[in-house]
Amino acid sequence: MKVLVINCGSSSLKYQLMDMDNNNRIAKGLVERIGLPGALLTHKPKDGEKEVIVAELPNHAAAIKLVLETVVDPDYGVVKSLSEIDAVGHRVLHGGEKVSGSVLIDDEVKQAIEDCIELGPLHNPANLAGIEACERMMPGIRQVAVFDTAFHQTMPPEAYLYGIPYELYEKYKIRRYGFHGTSHKYVSQRAAAMLGKRIEKLRLISCHLGNGSSLAAIKHGKSIETSMGFTPLEGLMMGTRSGDLDPTIVSFIMKKENLSGEQINDFLNKKCGVLGLSGVSSDFRDLQKAAEEGNYRAQLALDVFVHDVKKYVGAYSAALDGVDAIIFTAGLGENSPEMRKNICNTLSYLGVSIDDEKNQAARGEEVDISMWGAKCRVLVIPTDEELMIALDTKEIVSQL
Ligand code: AMP
Repeated sequence: MKVLVINCGSSSLKYQLMDMDNNNRIAKGLVERIGLPGALLTHKPKDGEKEVIVAELPNHAAAIKLVLETVVDPDYGVVKSLSEIDAVGHRVLHGGEKVSGSVLIDDEVKQAIEDCIELGPLHNPANLAGIEACERMMPGIRQVAVFDTAFHQTMPPEAYLYGIPYELYEKYKIRRYGFHGTSHKYVSQRAAAMLGKRIEKLRLISCHLGNGSSLAAIKHGKSIETSMGFTPLEGLMMGTRSGDLDPTIVSFIMKKENLSGEQINDFLNKKCGVLGLSGVSSDFRDLQKAAEEGNYRAQLALDVFVHDVKKYVGAYSAALDGVDAIIFTAGLGENSPEMRKNICNTLSYLGVSIDDEKNQAARGEEVDISMWGAKCRVLVIPTDEELMIALDTKEIVSQL
């Protein structure tokens, strides 16, 4: 079975064509600058040369059309005809409260995605546009929606409710949703496989640390707490996002800096986090280099980040009544032995003890970096959201 995975961002589109008979990637690609001058598609077949196509792409429908033309192109395409593709899996940001798992797309599901536009204003319209374009251009091919929020729908009310009047939750659906769900789900399943245990027996803390970062407490395979909230702004301090703040700070900055509602949103999402604190960069590689060179604020930003992770791990080990394994994933979690070491050094009270050699060696592959016999295991697991989307898509269409 071949599954096309589509991940539409506000002005970009990532795709992968997967062979689900062996879970191998056939090709992947990225469309950038949709709706802007200078749009381009970069296509990479598994064993072939990279192909860059410059095109006029006014919207996501035009981008999908170009992707579909590219995958069947006689020169650099990977299938002879679109009829070889059995199903399409779409990553969708927000499913609100109505969606608690991946679903076959029908009118009701599209309505649910549309109803959540207010909650995911940048992504949900793009996701919907991608789905509708595929429906038009690949008639009869089944499509599945895989939601970033779905995995966290198992959180109990005490974890997802905020301390505001309940009527506002009922009226506007203001609550914690959580994000990176596909990643947290994937790495927790891989962790169970690595540990050789049933997921129903495990208490896991998944640390998705990248440009955007979130932690999830996963009890017996279900998310019971996560650090991102109503939007992906809450939780840990991130590359450019502030993370948790006293809400009063928001109106205080608006007043002092004369910012509108839209401007403060933009500020908190794009100019804060380690970028704002360090004044150096949102990229942790730049921060680590600057800190080594003696930059005080870069070191401070790294220290605050480690402290944030430590705090959340502590909270989640309490929520889980103990923790069997901690998982590191995403750009920073997978690739920075220094960051993993600095975090793990603060967690010895949980029975965390890592092997320096294994930690240094773990890059881009699944490795248990714990010392032999350590009570709480520490696992490095490269996330693969596209594979998870393809697996969910395969499972759903196979049952039809
Ligand atoms: P992601 O959002 O998952 O793509 O992660 C991107 C982030 O990972 C970048 O902004 C970097 O800060 C971080 N990153 C990637 N590779 C490394 C590395 N070798 N060392 C430290 N940080 C890294």
